[in-house]
Amino acid sequence: MQIFLYDTTLRDGTQREGLSLSLADKLKIARELDRFGMHYIEGGWPGSNPKDAAFFAEAAKMEWKHAKIAAFGSTRRANSKPETDANLKALLDANTPVVTLVGKSWTLHVTEVLETTLEENLAMIRDSVALMKAHGKEVIYDAEHFFDGFRADNDYALATIKAAAEAGADWIVLCDTNGGSLPDWISAVVQQVKGKIKTQLGIHTHNDSELAVANSLAAIVAGCRQVQGTINGYGERCGNANLISIIPNLQVKMGMFCVLPDQLQRLTELSRTVSEIANLNPDEHAAYVGNSAFAHKGGIHVAAVAKVEHSYQHIEPVQVGNRKRVVISELSGRGNIKMRAEELGVESAGLERSVLERVKLLESKGFQFEAAEGSFELLVRRAAADYTAPFKLLDVVTIVEQRRGVEMQAEATVKLQIGEEIYHTAASGNGPVNALDQAMRKALLARYPELANVHLVDYKVRILDSESATGATTRVLIEAAMGEERWTTVGCSENIIEASWQALVDSLELPLVRAQSNQPVLLKHAETVAA
Ligand SMILES: [Zn+2]
Repeated sequence: MQIFLYDTTLRDGTQREGLSLSLADKLKIARELDRFGMHYIEGGWPGSNPKDAAFFAEAAKMEWKHAKIAAFGSTRRANSKPETDANLKALLDANTPVVTLVGKSWTLHVTEVLETTLEENLAMIRDSVALMKAHGKEVIYDAEHFFDGFRADNDYALATIKAAAEAGADWIVLCDTNGGSLPDWISAVVQQVKGKIKTQLGIHTHNDSELAVANSLAAIVAGCRQVQGTINGYGERCGNANLISIIPNLQVKMGMFCVLPDQLQRLTELSRTVSEIANLNPDEHAAYVGNSAFAHKGGIHVAAVAKVEHSYQHIEPVQVGNRKRVVISELSGRGNIKMRAEELGVESAGLERSVLERVKLLESKGFQFEAAEGSFELLVRRAAADYTAPFKLLDVVTIVEQRRGVEMQAEATVKLQIGEEIYHTAASGNGPVNALDQAMRKALLARYPELANVHLVDYKVRILDSESATGATTRVLIEAAMGEERWTTVGCSENIIEASWQALVDSLELPLVRAQSNQPVLLKHAETVAA
C-alpha cells in the first residue's frame, strides 16, 4: 500500500529552539528532500515572514523531480471575506500546486483563543478550502488539536473536518498538536473518523510523550494514507514525528510503500546532510541512521555477527544506507580486533591476542579506542615484528609564560629521530599544544613534505576522574584531516601536555605509515565519533 510522505522540516521543524535556516539552507534541504523521493515538501508560511515568501519565489523557478511544494497557512480570519484575507492571498501568491490550510477542531480554541463562535469557525474552514479549490489547488486540511478536540466534543470536531471535506479538501490530516496522545487513542479516533468521512486521511503528530513515531504508525494501521513529519524529528518543544524512523518502519517492517529501495538507501545520508545544514550535531544513537545504530561492541555479539550477520541486527544496515561497525573496547574479543583490522585494511593475522591485551591495558589507564580508530590502527601496525616507525619523538620541552602586559606565550622544543638522524627544533604557538605541533612539523617537514597537507581539525579534552580535580586523568582526542580524509587519535595521561603529544604523534604518524604501505587513510568522517 502506498503511503504519502509529507515533510514539514522547513516550517514546523524550524520551530525548534536553536534551529534557524537561511533561504539558501531551505532551498538546499528542499532539493535533498526531493532527491530522496518525498511526496510533499512544505516550504513555510508565506503570510508569516518575508523569508518564507522568498522561498516560494525561488521554488517556483526550480524543477522538482518527485515532490509537490506546499504552502502553509491558516483559515481566513473571523468575520472577514476570504477574497480579501491577507493570509489567504499570500498563500495564493506563493504559487504552489498544494496549499495546506490549518483550522481549529477544538471548541476551547474556537471560543477562548480565536474568540469567535463555533458556527463562524465552520464557515471559516468552508470558505478557505473552497477559495483554494476555486484556484485549482490541491488542498490539504490540517485539523489542529483534532485528538484533544475529539475528546472534548467529538460531534464538533467531526463537524469541522466535514466542513473541509464538503468544501472539497483533498486530504484531511488529523493533528496531535500538543503531542500528548497515546497510540490507543490515536487508533480509536482514526477508525471512528474513517467510518464517517470519505476523504483520504493523514496524520501529524508531535513528540511530547515520546510517541510521535508510534502514534503515526498506529494512525496508518488504522487507515491514514499520508504521514507528516520532519527530518530527525526536529520541531518545537520535544519535536515532530521523525520521518527518518517512520519511513523504514513503514517500508521495511510493515510492507508499505513509501519510496524506491535505492531512495531508501539514501536515508542515512539525508539525515546527516540535513543535520549538517541545520548546524546541529547528528545523534550518534539515532535509530536506523545513527553512527552507533549497527555498532557491535561486546565480544560475544561480534563473534556472533561474524558468523551470522543478522544475529544481532534488526535489519540490514545497507537498506537504509548505514553500515555495520565493530567497536574496539575492553569488552572486545579477538574477533573484534580481526574484523576491525580487516575493515581498516590492516593485516592482523597472529597479532590479535597481543593487540587485545594492549587495548585492555591502555583502556584500563583511560585510553579509549572506540572513537579513535586512527590510534587503533597504529596499535595493530606497531604490533607487527617488522614495524619501523617513520619517526621517534625523543625529548619534549614546553614552556608557557605570562608576563605583565604581554599575552600568554608558549614555546616548545623537540628532539626527533628520523632514521639515523636527530633533529632538534623549536617553535612558538598560541598554546603549548600548538607550539608542540609546530615544532614537530618543523622537524618532520624536511623529510616528509606531504605532512604540509595534514591539518588538525578538532581537539577535544575530557577529564576522566573529576573528583581529583586538577590531578585528574585527561583524555585527548585529536581529529586530523588531509583533503577529504579524516582520522581520530587518542592520548591519555595525568598531564594534559603528555596526553596531547601522544595523540599528536599518532595523528602525524598514521598518514606517513599509510603512505609507506601505499594505502590511503581509509577513515572517513562518518566513522569518527566525537568523544
Ligand atoms: Zn505541528
